[in-house]
Amino acid sequence: MMSAVIENDRETKCDANGKNNSRICCKFCPSVILNQGATTLVTHEFILPHMHPKNKDDDGQVDTINDYWLVEDMYTFENISVTKTVDNIKYLACADCEIGPVGYMDLDTKKSYVAISRVLYKDKT
Ligand SMILES: [Zn+2]
Repeated sequence: MMSAVIENDRETKCDANGKNNSRICCKFCPSVILNQGATTLVTHEFILPHMHPKNKDDDGQVDTINDYWLVEDMYTFENISVTKTVDNIKYLACADCEIGPVGYMDLDTKKSYVAISRVLYKDKT
């Protein structure tokens, strides 16, 4: 079930250092993607296909997304799976329900970007 609302209240998701102030979880299942404080919010424009289950094709539509959580190292993720490779990027999906993309990894820099509007925030302190 997709929410049509794009959350743009980026300040409420960050602590004073620009790190995520709550756990970042999958929108579709209980899987934890990133722990609190693991990642930094960046302004970064990148186009992602609409989210879809692994066993289905996407609908051909895309979103231009400007706000991402920057993950410098793949090992920072609690749970993540990589799906298909397109050019020099790999799309990232939930490790458990495999719905994605929630973001992508740049294979040149090895940095990953998780769209702030495509994840859920839990246990805010
Ligand atoms: Zn999931």
